Amino acid sequence: MNGSKPKNESQRGFTLLEMMVVVAIIAILAAILVPNFTRARAQTQTAACMGNIKMIATALELYYTDTGSYPAASTPTNVETLGLTGYLNQTPADPAGPGSYTVKTQSNAGNGGVAGYQIWCPGTHDPGTLAKIAGGTTANTHIKFDNQAGFTTVSAQNQ
Ligand SMILES: [Zn+2]
Repeated sequence: MNGSKPKNESQRGFTLLEMMVVVAIIAILAAILVPNFTRARAQTQTAACMGNIKMIATALELYYTDTGSYPAASTPTNVETLGLTGYLNQTPADPAGPGSYTVKTQSNAGNGGVAGYQIWCPGTHDPGTLAKIAGGTTANTHIKFDNQAGFTTVSAQNQ
């Protein structure tokens, strides 16, 4: 009689080497995917912030169409206190950070006969997601919109 009957093939477990290979493959996949998810999240925040700014710009243009001037704000003013009630139903929040969007306006007389405005975002964005905007560098983290110059990036709000 043979007491040490060989195990059935289907009952064999994994060897240590097989387990190590599987764990290594999972680790490699995670190392590839996690940074991509992080970057995608930051890019979504930047896109949403630019949408918020365009929404504020549209409200300012509607205000201008109705009244003939932008709301008075000779220094950067929080958008909540700008008097855009009826033009901006909800005050947008920057997904990249806390604080208020700020707006500065110029009257026709004070700007060489051309009225204008600038909008700044309060949040701190991943600079890599701002690279496609004019002025995007590895240092700038904030988005600025000028009704003449369009989107640019700056290193701090209200600059
Ligand atoms: Zn922002």
